[in-house]
Amino acid sequence: MMPLSDNALLRYDRQIALKDFDIDKQQQLAAAKVMIVGMGGLGCVVATYLASSGIGQLTLVDPDTVSLSNLPRQILFTETDCGKAKVEVAQHQLAMRNPECRVNIAQQAFDESSEWLAHCAEQQIVIDCTDQLSSRQQINRHCFATSTPLISGAAIRMEGCVISFTWQKDEPCYECLSHFFGEPIGSCVENGVMAPLTGIIGSLQAMEAIRHLTQYGSTTQGRYLLYDAMNFSFTSLKVKRNPHCRLCAYPQ
Ligand SMILES: [Zn+2]
Repeated sequence: MMPLSDNALLRYDRQIALKDFDIDKQQQLAAAKVMIVGMGGLGCVVATYLASSGIGQLTLVDPDTVSLSNLPRQILFTETDCGKAKVEVAQHQLAMRNPECRVNIAQQAFDESSEWLAHCAEQQIVIDCTDQLSSRQQINRHCFATSTPLISGAAIRMEGCVISFTWQKDEPCYECLSHFFGEPIGSCVENGVMAPLTGIIGSLQAMEAIRHLTQYGSTTQGRYLLYDAMNFSFTSLKVKRNPHCRLCAYPQ
């Protein structure tokens, strides 16, 4: 692993000072490759924290351009960015924040193609920051097929959740969860979302990515974290693999 530069040792001093984190784990972050799918309210926060905390390479995926109604949540964009490609603006902003982070971009939708399957296989983690069920299911399928750890987050109205899928025995996949919680509840366009909620959930996803990349702290083992902003409460549920899951049930 490449040694950290003097500049990096200074920049990441507060993380390196953490007990049992040290230079070793900071080096692991510098060597890490992470793909963020969706550069909305969650993706902007995840990308900002991962770039600033020293991830070596990020790949940002989003087909959309910036619009005025994005600005309350999507903190990498300003009013003058309206009409520009989200991934291009994000790449520029992240380069200013931390030039040591290499940022690749793809202004296209994540789909079932083998190209995306190959991209997933190259990553140490994929972070799902999309807001559509079909995209979430597709990301889950590709990550399952390539055994790429997946950190999924969602924020809608005044509720949010985060779960990591690391493909260990008995751990669920996203599809198991869809079965567990029934039908989707629609999008933020129809239901609304409070701006800081995406900041909280995105921050939790970034934290989980760092913890997973460096194996810092305990493993989540299929625990599902729910945040109820209306009632100032977090709930952690243990979710098991659905033995009838149409994706991950075994034996096939
Ligand atoms: Zn499953």
